[in-house]
Formats: sequence, C-alpha cells, structure tokens
Amino acid sequence: MRILFSSRIEAPERWLPLLQSLLPRDEFTVECSGEIDVAIVASPRPGTLGKLGNAKLIQSLWMGVEALLADPDLPRNVPLARLVDPGMAAAMTETVLAHTLDWHRRLYRYREQQKSRTWKRFRQYMASDHTVGILGMGALGTAAAARLLPLGFNVVGWSRRPKAIRDVKCSTDLSWVLSESHVVVCLLPLTAQTKGILNAGNLKKIREGGGLINCARGAHVARDDLIAVLDSGHLAHAWLDVFEKEPLPADDPLWAHPKVSITPHAAALTEPRTAVIEIAKNIEAVRRGERPPHLVDFSAGY
Ligand code: NAP
Repeated sequence: MRILFSSRIEAPERWLPLLQSLLPRDEFTVECSGEIDVAIVASPRPGTLGKLGNAKLIQSLWMGVEALLADPDLPRNVPLARLVDPGMAAAMTETVLAHTLDWHRRLYRYREQQKSRTWKRFRQYMASDHTVGILGMGALGTAAAARLLPLGFNVVGWSRRPKAIRDVKCSTDLSWVLSESHVVVCLLPLTAQTKGILNAGNLKKIREGGGLINCARGAHVARDDLIAVLDSGHLAHAWLDVFEKEPLPADDPLWAHPKVSITPHAAALTEPRTAVIEIAKNIEAVRRGERPPHLVDFSAGY
C-alpha cells in the first residue's frame, strides 16, 4: 500500500522509521501525490485532505479530531480513525492522578504557604472520603478511573450513552455526576454539545471546596465563569492543561491566578513507540478489508 504521512507539527523523522519497521512491505511518502491508500495525518499540510477522497483510511495521529472534522476539505466518504495510543493513555492517567492527589493531599495549599514560610497543617482525609467525577468515560476516562479506584477514591463517570464499568458509578446525568464530585476531571471530546459545558451553572454544582482538572480542550471551560467560581471560593483550585488560544497569551488572567495551575498542553503527548503499533494494526485491518476500531462517528462529532 502507499501511505502518506502529513503533519505540520509531528516530525516524519520520528515516525517513519518506526512505521516502516512494522510495515516493511508498504511504501511511505510525505508528498500527497499519486494514489494514496492510507493517510496518517495530524494538522496536515493545506490542500492535503481534499486529495484523499479515494483513500481507504485516514488515520489521525492524535486522539482529538475536532480540527480535522472542522476542515471542509475532509472527505466524509473515507473512514477516519482516531489514534487510541496506550502510551498517551498512560501519560494522561499519570497527570490525572498527580492533580487529583495534589488536591486530595492539599499540596497546592502547602506550596502557597511556603511563599510566606507558614507552618500549618490541614486536616487529613482518606481517599475513600473523596469522589472523583470523570466527564468522558472513553479511552482516557476509563484508563484514569482504573488507576484512581485502587487508591481508594470513589469514581463517578459521565458519558453520552449509558455505560457499565466495574466499581464506577456511571451516569448520563451531568448534574448528578457534578453534585457527587469533589474533583472533576474533564476528558471529553470537543463537540457542539460539549463546548462551554463547564460554565458557571455547572461549575457551581461541583462540591464546595472542590477542584477542576481540564485535560481535554480549552473550549470546554468558560474561562471567565471559572475565574468567578474560583474567586467566590466555591472551587479551591483548577489545573488547566488546555486553553481556547494556545499558547496561552501572556496577558491572560489565568497565568497569575493564585488558584490556577497551568501546564502547556502537556498532560499527555502521543508516544510514537506505542502509537505506531496501533496504527500498524489499523493498516493491517484495512489490508484485510476490515474496518479498524475507533472510527470517528461523523454525526456524533467524535
Ligand atoms: P473517547 O474515547 O472518544 O471518549 C469520549 C467520551 O466522552 C465517551 O465516554 C463519550 O460518551 C463522552 N462524550 C462525548 N460526548 C458527550 C456528551 N455530549 N455528553 C456526555 N458524554 C459525552 O475520547 P478519548 O480518547 O478518551 O479522548 C478524550 C479527549 O481528550 C480527546 O477528544 C482530546 O480532546 C483530549 N485529549 C487531550 C490531551 C492533552 O494532552 N491534553 C491528550 C489526548 C486527548 P460515550 O462513551 O457514550 O461515547
């Protein structure tokens, strides 16, 4: 097969040797010309998507596909696969655990106290005293839940369709999930339904003194509403990895907010060593004439 690799962000030198070693019979190209059977893309070069109408598969190199879906040139007749990368899921789980424990152990408050050399202990809680609410019980939400549970946290999860996940209280009722949660972790795809979902009304439903961890997309959070809810004291802290405008502009009030911890969209990066194995499996499925897993549902938007 002829496989195109097109990205303005991911370096082909990092990916192509790994892909070629798993798919030695296939021909790889970075130029979108001639017949293309499979296109591996992440922020592809302009004009690329419009030429892929005869491809058998478009494989995203990223888990979030909202930018591809928003491109009018994306051919809707070609299956589009999200990348579900175990290395990235592991990294995301670590980030969620780190921030959840930061809130649970009040480490963010001790860091603040250190600035004024204050020696003051806060009350200790057991993990079982606290509930983590995960918005989006997909590949990433499920992986995070599986590691939070053995630590002793209660886990509730929100998804679009009803779900049964062992030891997780799953619900399609957002208000219920938020009202149960001390810490809310956003791991939703960005769609018309989820944009701005973390607005004032919903943020206030989280338990008093709680925390917000947004590792999905910046547009899930109504920034000014979040600042108001933090300033009111209803939420204690927010850990934000993603922003509507990235890089976060230097004059954005979030940078200096004492109740906000910022990371530069680094919660989980694609890990080529594990990702190529999943990509190769998808390409082998296409070769056998099968549909690979994790195809995007164009009508649902993820
Ligand atoms: P996924 O497997 O597609 O799971 C998405 C979950 O969200 C599913 O449980 C889905 O419900 C739920 N959902 C979608 N729309 C909903 C709605 N309207 N109401 C309620 N639940 C809804 O996605 P994933 O692989 O876990 O990735 C999630 C997102 O993480 C990606 O889209 C990307 O934006 C983000 N991400 C961020 C980083 C980072 O570094 N910050 C890295 C990777 C990914 P159903 O189960 O019913 O379908």
